[in-house]
Amino acid sequence: MAKIPQAEAGQFLRVNPIACVARGMCAELLPEQVKLDEWGYPILKGDPLPPQLVAHARRAIAECPTLALRSDPTPRG
Ligand code: SF4
Repeated sequence: MAKIPQAEAGQFLRVNPIACVARGMCAELLPEQVKLDEWGYPILKGDPLPPQLVAHARRAIAECPTLALRSDPTPRG
């Protein structure tokens, strides 16, 4: 099985809106970077991950029930 790359400082969170089931786990685990809209879908802050939040981001990515949350090294183009 392919290993999912770990989030690193300076990377950007991304959500696959097709896979997301709006449970809100990511906002609970990483409120500094993720808020929820009125339907429970995540709204990402869009800033690069600061070093002090990397562990929380890794946990949020790992706990997402549908693997909809990931970290990407490039900003959204
Ligand atoms: S934890 Fe995953 S499925 Fe749940 S709201 Fe966040 S991105 Fe969507």
